[in-house]
Amino acid sequence: MLQVPAAYSSQECSRCGHTHPGNRDAQRFACQRCGLEAHADTNAARIIAGRGIGMVRDQKVVVKARKRVAYRRRATKAGLESPDVPVEGGVSRDEAKADIAQCPRKQEGATTTAPSGV
Ligand SMILES: [Zn+2]
Repeated sequence: MLQVPAAYSSQECSRCGHTHPGNRDAQRFACQRCGLEAHADTNAARIIAGRGIGMVRDQKVVVKARKRVAYRRRATKAGLESPDVPVEGGVSRDEAKADIAQCPRKQEGATTTAPSGV
């Protein structure tokens, strides 16, 4: 799970990239440049997905292996790391929360994963 900037995703066309407040009309998205029409949330989801893919491709974020995530979950339960550590990249949780389902665990939190007493 990635956290990507969600700013203007509700106004940006997922087809041509045109970003304008007029593209958004309540729950409908209708691009004023290319004419794309979609549900606003559907369009925004495409924008978010595209940004996430771009971030990975540009290596702005590091995708953790699944195995490691499962391991970290145990560590979190043991109270060895805070689930509320801000992630790097300058995206506030509230911003990200606006458009994508939140991963309950924060990536890029404490790097110490070894539970004590092993
Ligand atoms: Zn468009």
